[in-house]
Amino acid sequence: MRYFLSALFAVLLLAIGGLVYLLKSHPVIQPIDGADGNPQSSIRLLFLGTSSMAWTDDTSTWLIDGFFSRPAIEKVIFTRLNVDKPRVDEVITEVFRRLNMPEVLSGIVVAHSHYDHSMDAPYLAMQYGGRLVGSESTWQIAKGQDLPALQMDLQAEQGQVSFGNFDIRLQESAHAPTGFTGGFNNKPVFLPAHALQFKEGVSYSFLVSHPSMGSAPFALIQPSAGFIPGQNKDVRVNTVLLGMGGLGKLSDEYIAEYWQEMVLNTQAKTVYLIHWDDFTLPLIQEGKIKPLKSMPTALDDFPRSLELLKMFSKRDEVTLHILNAWEMVYF
Ligand SMILES: [Zn+2]
Repeated sequence: MRYFLSALFAVLLLAIGGLVYLLKSHPVIQPIDGADGNPQSSIRLLFLGTSSMAWTDDTSTWLIDGFFSRPAIEKVIFTRLNVDKPRVDEVITEVFRRLNMPEVLSGIVVAHSHYDHSMDAPYLAMQYGGRLVGSESTWQIAKGQDLPALQMDLQAEQGQVSFGNFDIRLQESAHAPTGFTGGFNNKPVFLPAHALQFKEGVSYSFLVSHPSMGSAPFALIQPSAGFIPGQNKDVRVNTVLLGMGGLGKLSDEYIAEYWQEMVLNTQAKTVYLIHWDDFTLPLIQEGKIKPLKSMPTALDDFPRSLELLKMFSKRDEVTLHILNAWEMVYF
C-alpha cells in the first residue's frame, strides 16, 4: 500500500511538473511593423499588458484596469492572491515617468471583475487618487480592500464618465467564451482570494473621446474577446484596441464574426492587439522592463488567431499592430 501511494505521488508530481512546463512554454511571435501615429499629439496611451493602459492628454492621467501584480502561474493555481504592492508601485512610478506626468490619477475604469483586470485597481485609487469606475462586482472587490465609498463610481450596464477632458463611454459587451466566465460578486472580496473568487460581473467595452479629436469617440477598447451582436451598430471609430485573450481556441467563424463586429462595423482603420500576453509574467523584473510573451499554447493559440486577423486586415485594408508592454500610442 505504501509502495502504491509513493508511486501515485510520483505520478502526481510528474503530472504537475508537466503541467507547469506546458504553462511556461510560449510560442514566439513576429512583431508587425506599420502602425504610425502622430508623436506631436498630446493624446497618448502607454500599453501595459492585458487590457491595462495609461492615457493622458498632458493634463489628466487615467487607467484602464491597472493590473500590475501579475502573480506567477504557480501562485495563481496553488495559492490565494493578493496585491503585490511593491511591484504595483514600481510599475505605476515608471508609467508616470514615461508619460512625463505627476503621480496623480484622475480615475481608473475596470473592464470586468476577473482578477487580471480588477485586483490592483482599488489599491491604485487609494494610493494615487481618482475614482474607481466599474460594475457592482468590481465595487465588491473595492469594498474588500476598504476603498472609501466616495471614491467608487458604480456603473450599470451602460454609463459615461469624464476624467478631465476625456470622456469614456461604458457599454455592456461580452467576455470571450473561455469557460471561466459569468457570475457576480455579491459580497466583498477580501484578500487574499483565489483567482476563481473574482467573478466576471459586467464586461464592458470603452469608447474614448476628447475635444481635441472631435466630438465623436475616436477609439474603442474591447478588453475581452467577446461581443454582443450589434453592440457597435452606432459606433464609428478610427482605432480599435482589440482584446485577444482566448480567441486562439475559438472557431474560425467566431473569430471572423468578432472581427466583423469590432473592426468592419466600426469602420476602424487601425487595430492594436491587446490582452494577448501571458499575464503571469512581470512587467518589470530586477529593475528592467520586460517585453511581453504570448500565452502558453496550453491556454491559448495566439499564433493561430493572429494569422487569421492578418488575413482579414490585408483583405479589409486595416492596419494591424501587436502592442507590446511599455509601447506608446499617439493619436
Ligand atoms: Zn476575464
